[in-house]
Amino acid sequence: MMKRLVLSGAGHAHLNVLKSLVRKRWPGVEVILISPHDRQIYSGMVPGWMAGHYRLAQCAADLLPLAHAAGVRFIQDSVLGLDAGKREIVTARSGTLAYDVLSLDTGAAIDTDSLAATDARFLPIRPLEAFVAAWTGALAAAKAKGRAHLLVVGGGAAGVELALAARYRLAQEIGAANAIVSLISGSDLLPGHGKGIVSSVTKSLARQGVVVYAGRAVGCPEGVQLADGRIIAADSVIAATGVKPAEWLAASGLALATDGFIAVGDGQQSVSHAAVFAAGDVATRVDAPHAKSGVYAVRAGPVLAANLQRAIHGEAPLSYVPQKRSLYLLATGPREAILSWGPLSARGRWVWKWKDWIDQRFMRQYDLGPETCPGES
Ligand SMILES: Cc1cc2nc3c(=O)[nH]c(=O)nc-3n(C[C@H](O)[C@H](O)[C@H](O)COP(=O)(O)OP(=O)(O)OC[C@H]3O[C@@H](n4cnc5c(N)ncnc54)[C@H](O)[C@@H]3O)c2cc1C
Repeated sequence: MMKRLVLSGAGHAHLNVLKSLVRKRWPGVEVILISPHDRQIYSGMVPGWMAGHYRLAQCAADLLPLAHAAGVRFIQDSVLGLDAGKREIVTARSGTLAYDVLSLDTGAAIDTDSLAATDARFLPIRPLEAFVAAWTGALAAAKAKGRAHLLVVGGGAAGVELALAARYRLAQEIGAANAIVSLISGSDLLPGHGKGIVSSVTKSLARQGVVVYAGRAVGCPEGVQLADGRIIAADSVIAATGVKPAEWLAASGLALATDGFIAVGDGQQSVSHAAVFAAGDVATRVDAPHAKSGVYAVRAGPVLAANLQRAIHGEAPLSYVPQKRSLYLLATGPREAILSWGPLSARGRWVWKWKDWIDQRFMRQYDLGPETCPGES
């Protein structure tokens, strides 16, 4: 009998599952992909897009040609709920969908509660589709006004890259003197990264004229307020604060890790429900916890593809050991980047060239060209 595999979300690991299906279809299975948009924006290239080095189309994978070539039914919709006991998902517009095997790669939400009181234009970095639209609006407003005061809240890798990209682009568009960009880092900059990269990033921020504030920020009508009472006024606030799980996970019946994300074991399989798999930011490996970053989502892709196929045939999953360290290549605004690998760090135009080569090669895997579009073959 035909089995049904539902892929929820088109995150990094699911792109890999689609690629595997393009290479060779899996017999005896109907595969459905549910994602709210018909493209998947690649976060690693977003700072380069903001800085003006890429067109958005270069940073996004078109899901329709990919799904078509993979023999996958694409439903443009969002998952709103899951009943793992009944093996059913609830979608926003397409009703309830039963599955034999479910795989979740829906990423994480962003925790913005503490900033909600700001009256400034608010730009949370998740979901990325909303962020790119909001940044386009903020840039247009800055150009119309001829000046901008932008705050980025969050001193992790994403916050740093976004602050540097924003400052670079705004300075190009409206002049450096009119482009005020500040970064607010709740704790130390780049927690979890080596001293070398922290020092390199600090230099880049200073060189580019990004003002850094330390301290926890909460939203206030003028912009944000720091714990010591200082108010930092802004016309736009980018929230690059910590990640949080989607609310619907709590009622799914799935075992969750202490951080609220789906608890999975060494085969990316739910520890409570054998028919459910999860990878990327939505999952937490209880046996080998690691940072929520795209690198791990990408690396989990091949084993996820293998294990979904095995689960469909009732076979036990293969295990996968995530790498201990991951390489970070941080864009600094101009065509220059900083490399971080454990305690090692380096910077320069060559790092940007390397990052650009890696990112563009990554995107090329999912560019099937218009000839494979439905109806055009
Ligand atoms: C600006 C920025 C730069 C970054 N740079 C890097 C970097 O250089 N290196 C790195 O390792 N990490 C980086 N990260 C982190 C990285 O983006 C995430 O860790 C990574 O995207 C997680 O991948 P994922 O597969 O879990 O899901 P995502 O890439 O978040 O994709 C989730 C998918 O699920 C869909 N979805 C969401 N909710 C639902 C729903 N309810 N129903 C159906 N579909 C849904 C989304 O539309 C999307 O298609 C960066 C993050 C940001 C914001």
